[in-house]
Amino acid sequence: MNPVSVPAPISGGALAPELLADLAAASRILAAQGVVDGFGHVSMRHPAAPNRYWMSRSLAPALVTADDLLEYDLDSQPCNAGDRKSFLERYIHGEVYKARPDVMAVVHSHSPSVVPFGLVRAKMQAMFHNAAFLAAGVPVFDIRDRFGATDMLVGNTEKGEALAETLGTKDVVLMRAHGSVACGPSLQTTVFRAVYTEVNARIQHWAAALAAGEPLAGLDEEEGVLADSVNQGAGVRAWDLWRAQVRAQAGW
Ligand SMILES: [Zn+2]
Repeated sequence: MNPVSVPAPISGGALAPELLADLAAASRILAAQGVVDGFGHVSMRHPAAPNRYWMSRSLAPALVTADDLLEYDLDSQPCNAGDRKSFLERYIHGEVYKARPDVMAVVHSHSPSVVPFGLVRAKMQAMFHNAAFLAAGVPVFDIRDRFGATDMLVGNTEKGEALAETLGTKDVVLMRAHGSVACGPSLQTTVFRAVYTEVNARIQHWAAALAAGEPLAGLDEEEGVLADSVNQGAGVRAWDLWRAQVRAQAGW
């Protein structure tokens, strides 16, 4: 036996088949909605074991099935990977779960309309009610502040911890010249937020072009809180539609 090998963490227990199916569907929904492409990932905290989370093995999100899902501890060490490869940036997920006990799911993506907001001084704002969760503010994580020149990837615990620190109590954090992270109190709400962060970014680009330097009349913080609480219930309608679409396409 290799003396330096560390034993795999113990499982928090099997995840119900319907939850595994939902997590696989979430991955495909994000691909279908243009949030992820060949890259990006979604995870879900284990509902019965808060110090464990589940996400796909390293695989393009549109191809994920329930059989591809692996369990991790919050240091992002796999419990059941065997010879299956893990995503390099899984530390984003583990460190957000460590820092935020309220978070039950995390999405990391490089969705293209969002990236510009990590490159400029202009802040991302909540442009419409579906993006109400953005009204609390959208911080930008600049990996070079603490780590200097890097490959830009959040590939270890220290980088994940720094990212989670910049996220703070917000629902979305942008990553300079890379992408973004969305989180929330359920898988459904988190997918909703990841989708509407991308849609909101597009709307803000259009609105800013029309405004020609004038301020944008997006939601203020109070409107954001009120509209977000409605969205957390009503958003299930979008989830049901998106899940039906990916299931029909996959033949599940
Ligand atoms: Zn990334």
